[in-house]
Amino acid sequence: MGERSHVPGVVIPIAPLTAGRTSTVDAVNGADLADLRAMRRVADRRDRPLHDLRISVTDRCNFRCTYCMPKDVFGPGYRFLPQDALLSFEEITRFARVATQLGVEKIRLTGGEPTLRRHLPRLIEMLSALRTPDGAALDLTLTTNGSTLVKQANALKAAGLQRITVSLDSLDDATFRAMNDVEFPVRDVLSGIDAALAAGLAPVKVNMVVKRGVNDDGIVAMAQHFRGSGVVVRFIEFMDVGATNGWRMDDVVPSRDVIAAIHAAHPLVAVDAQYAGEVAERWRYADGGGEIGVISSVTQAFCSSCTRARLSTDGKIYTCLFADDGVDFRALLRGDASDEDIAARLAGVWQARADRYSEIRSDATARSRKVEMSYIGG
Ligand code: SF4
Repeated sequence: MGERSHVPGVVIPIAPLTAGRTSTVDAVNGADLADLRAMRRVADRRDRPLHDLRISVTDRCNFRCTYCMPKDVFGPGYRFLPQDALLSFEEITRFARVATQLGVEKIRLTGGEPTLRRHLPRLIEMLSALRTPDGAALDLTLTTNGSTLVKQANALKAAGLQRITVSLDSLDDATFRAMNDVEFPVRDVLSGIDAALAAGLAPVKVNMVVKRGVNDDGIVAMAQHFRGSGVVVRFIEFMDVGATNGWRMDDVVPSRDVIAAIHAAHPLVAVDAQYAGEVAERWRYADGGGEIGVISSVTQAFCSSCTRARLSTDGKIYTCLFADDGVDFRALLRGDASDEDIAARLAGVWQARADRYSEIRSDATARSRKVEMSYIGG
């Protein structure tokens, strides 16, 4: 047995890499660091590897999208996290570096609205310098509401961002203004998308959350607008994220209906996933007009291949978008813990994971307490 770390008070299940077997070592004695050093891949109880790390860099946003950050909850009196509660860029980068040792190859920056975090290009520079144990660059992307892209696209690209996803829920200005609930005009997001394309971010993807009776009449128009542009539109089923968006199953437009509507206008052909755990189901236009995707967490759960961990703005790891709580790493990052201590805890948290919320979703679970998406990102 190798030397031991000293992470106080946590029981960590450790699965030696090869066997997929799980053994438990009391953290007072720490994880077996030799095992940790040898680990290149850590898997959870459903043998899903830790591959994607979503990092929320702020809990603030300049929009109040009704399905994510409704004004009646996130109003003028809402208390956002104080600055010193947020992980610093150095802390985020250190955590990400440790996570790459356990198999993370893709990082998505989220929020709130990540581009509101001051000096964000500095963080992107730091993260883009990280490498996997095999020396490969990470797949580094970001999800934004597009509101600042006209100003920031070039700086984000120059800092090392490779690609980007922009949320745009309607091309109809009145509908879009009502959904973002801050009267933000569609044309400015479209200009932001153009700026991202001009800056060389690629691919540029657009996410549209579809809600019945709100914006579902704009599905085909959205598809048509970006056909032939190289921009990939993903249509997302309205989800019961958090506990504030008043989710009802009746408001969900199943992805199969979205596909049927677009197919009727522009025939589609199914495309295989690019990698295990890819969130969007891919379709391409039969006439070569490009690609679209659907994200069907409600009607076609994809938990069995979910490889995503989420780091909150204040340093907690959530192993599911619909979790009700996370595990704190900020104390370790700010204390005297070594990188191996942090790796030991992260490995333990992931190996104990058995999340499958979308497989067990019900009206009852929809009303249960869940972390807010605006806090840990999508
Ligand atoms: S519900 Fe949770 S476990 Fe399932 S795909 Fe979403 S984040 Fe992953």
